[in-house]
Amino acid sequence: MSDPSAPFDILVVGGGINGVGIARDAAGRGLSVLVVERDDLASATSSWSTKLIHGGLRYLEYYEFRLVGEALAEREVLLKLAPHLIEPLAFVLPHEPHLRPAWMIRAGLFLYDRLGGQMSLPRSTGVRLDDSRWGAGLQPRFRKGFVYADARVDDARLVLVNAISARDHGADVRVRTRFVSARREAGLWHATLDGPTGREEIAARAIVNAAGPWVADVLRATDAKPTRARVRHVKGSHIVVPRQHAEEHAYILQNADKRIVFVIPYQERYSLIGTTDVAVDDYESPRISDDEIDYLIELANAYLDKPLSRADVVWSYSGVRPLYDDGSSDPSAITRDYVFKTDALDGPPGPGRAPVLSIYGGKITTYRKLAEAALRELAPYFPAMKPPWTAGETLPGGDLPGGDRAALLASLCARHPGVPVDVLRGIARRHGTRTARVLGSARALDDLGEHFGAGLTAREIDFLVDDEWARDADDVLWRRTKCGLPMSAAERERVAAYMRSRAGAS
Ligand SMILES: Cc1cc2nc3c(=O)[nH]c(=O)nc-3n(C[C@H](O)[C@H](O)[C@H](O)COP(=O)(O)OP(=O)(O)OC[C@H]3O[C@@H](n4cnc5c(N)ncnc54)[C@H](O)[C@@H]3O)c2cc1C
Repeated sequence: MSDPSAPFDILVVGGGINGVGIARDAAGRGLSVLVVERDDLASATSSWSTKLIHGGLRYLEYYEFRLVGEALAEREVLLKLAPHLIEPLAFVLPHEPHLRPAWMIRAGLFLYDRLGGQMSLPRSTGVRLDDSRWGAGLQPRFRKGFVYADARVDDARLVLVNAISARDHGADVRVRTRFVSARREAGLWHATLDGPTGREEIAARAIVNAAGPWVADVLRATDAKPTRARVRHVKGSHIVVPRQHAEEHAYILQNADKRIVFVIPYQERYSLIGTTDVAVDDYESPRISDDEIDYLIELANAYLDKPLSRADVVWSYSGVRPLYDDGSSDPSAITRDYVFKTDALDGPPGPGRAPVLSIYGGKITTYRKLAEAALRELAPYFPAMKPPWTAGETLPGGDLPGGDRAALLASLCARHPGVPVDVLRGIARRHGTRTARVLGSARALDDLGEHFGAGLTAREIDFLVDDEWARDADDVLWRRTKCGLPMSAAERERVAAYMRSRAGAS
């Protein structure tokens, strides 16, 4: 039996992608890890992204070759680790000669195809848009374009599977648990936490401050030496509209302000359009503004054949990028690379120096590399720590035979013949090979309990509560699934009532 009052090796503050990524890596290297998330896992920036695992073509214009190269190489790794959540996606860039000449785009794509090393995705190519599927939904004036490959991800579920894996490797993951403050005493951190059962104090040898937009607030709540590092809060918003074309590819649209906006097929029936870049002071609860909606619609309408209006927007969301302040005045130009700042007790780095490592910036795409780099930084404090391992172990549910989603669905259809294929497809996309644990021996839809709509059943909700830390209806409807999107208000209320009845019963 482990001693409950024994110090943890690492206290990770923040259950976004960076916090759980580091927790997973550290736990797998034999360290004892506690993760505290004040709200739900992925309840902040990590579920409000554009949902791309990408190198970031536009960062080439800012000479971010290291970041783009690392992200492209990592795209290849992540496609293998989580094929149920990450899939290749073709992007079409319609040519607008007055914005960027063709030679410049060709040069950028040439680099993009090569910076990450050996790639399994197809190389970029020029295409005709006026007489091929690549121009679907675009105005007929677009004749030429370029196609390149990237990938998309279910961002919130990527956080979830990392948390599950961290737990499988022994980490203690606590949601609705706020880090309040911490002080150093005798070479250890003593941290006050505020959770569902009230306040408690725990001890840890190191703190990882992965609080995203709140990184400076968390650091200020410790007695670490003040840092000169600053975080820039840059809001990005997206709108969701009815699907703009039936093809599978996305568009990358250029704007005269040098920014780009994506139009991405989303959740079968929709298109996701984003994002914006707006420097903000208030990062607590970001909301899309009317100006941002108009900006996105106006740019989309410069390209799309069927004009959009505000009335077409069925959903929107906003997140705040916690970027490292590199002094750029233009929010779009601030580096997306990550930066660490570590403060420890005076003396050479080593055991007993109680370090706190704070993370600035980063991308979902590079979270695993960021975790490895963070543990390299912490290695002197944990000499017995094992070597890196996460590049070689699939994330929970990702061990699809041959990485093949269609084969998984076919085997599920055979095993659960009475469950509609749309319901099976939705569950398989969320859970991969863990679908077997959700469905058990169910043969028909009725075996899965109440059907709330959009393929969400009581059986799956129970699984999300029992196995994936879901506590309320938003956790289920907007993070662990996106079933909230096609559901009616009445259906969402039924889910909320079910969650309340479960909470009451327990
Ligand atoms: C609009 C937008 C689009 C983006 N698109 C992409 C993209 O397509 N691809 C890509 O690779 N990257 C993208 N990014 C970047 C990516 O989303 C972020 O870099 C990443 O999600 C940051 O993760 P994080 O874990 O650092 O922060 P977060 O996800 O914000 O996690 C921090 C967590 O800390 C918790 N927390 C804060 N204070 C406390 C406390 N006191 N106690 C306990 N918990 C606390 C918060 O509740 C939060 O859950 C995008 C970002 C934005 C905003």
